[in-house]
Amino acid sequence: MTDEKPDHSPDPAMLAKAETLTEALPYLQRYAGKSFVIKYGGHAMGSPSLARNFAEDIVLLKQVGINPVVVHGGGPQIGAMLERLGVESKFVDGLRVTTKETAEIAEMVLSGAINKQLVSWIEQAGGSAIGISGKDGSFVKAVKLRRTARDPGSNIERIIDLGFVGEPNKVDRSLVDTISSSGTIPVIAPIGVGEDGHTYNINADTMAGAVASAIGAARLFLLTDVAGVLDKKGDLLTDLDPSMIRTLSEDGTIAGGMIPKLETCVKAVEDGVDAAVVLDGRIPHAMLLEIFTSKGAGTLVRDDFETVE
Ligand code: ADP
Ligand code: MG
Repeated sequence: MTDEKPDHSPDPAMLAKAETLTEALPYLQRYAGKSFVIKYGGHAMGSPSLARNFAEDIVLLKQVGINPVVVHGGGPQIGAMLERLGVESKFVDGLRVTTKETAEIAEMVLSGAINKQLVSWIEQAGGSAIGISGKDGSFVKAVKLRRTARDPGSNIERIIDLGFVGEPNKVDRSLVDTISSSGTIPVIAPIGVGEDGHTYNINADTMAGAVASAIGAARLFLLTDVAGVLDKKGDLLTDLDPSMIRTLSEDGTIAGGMIPKLETCVKAVEDGVDAAVVLDGRIPHAMLLEIFTSKGAGTLVRDDFETVE
């Protein structure tokens, strides 16, 4: 027999968990009753285990009194389906032209497959979710996207016709409000309907921003497949405002899919959304870390650094 006393001191790992919870308290109090719009995937949606983590995070937000509204993308999945069906795409300046046939396939993938998959992940995580697109209740009216490009040789501006690609021009918040207030999480596919009755594909970042502005969201989260906005050396830029973003855009630091993402962030914060965050969707629970701890993650975009709570 030894006379060593049993160790009743608390397990440090358990203590750390309790500390994390108490650290979250001020954030829980601050955000209860507020709406957060979260844009998820295409690329961040790649792994089912990450998707399950994501669904758990969304259910947790709802449980603590925040109203999460999910908007999803699906570029890679649409690309894969077009390939499977042998539909060739034409690209203009790197942007896919959406013919009537492509738009039909995109709607099948977005509204049919991805939307319902996300709903079912949220349901499996113990939440309640309803999947809609902008066509339901015609809640997102869209107009054809007009894009122009300057010809480098002649410097003449020409119109690029991307087909059935639109941008939201009117968002009726009542359907989203009705779903959220009934304890359910709206999951939105980025499709709008034109006054002409046509179906328009909308960039999911743009769609998320328009929904965030319409419902007066406190936060807009854009989950993607990079750590955030990176500078020319590849280092993470943690805080940006609209004028810094204009500079990054002019000097070519941001390109490709990051352009609509940051245009969306600027528009959202100028429209009254408190802050927009570009977050790494590849990191498990990145959103919870950003919301409930003092350590921010990703890139925070705000209009005025003084006024964000
Ligand atoms: P998502 O499917 O999440 O919308 P996108 O491919 O449309 O992703 O946009 C994110 C991509 O933007 C990154 O994977 C990266 O290739 C590109 N990108 C361009 N410029 C930057 C930058 N300065 N910082 C980070 N990513 C950038
Ligand atoms: Mg994108």
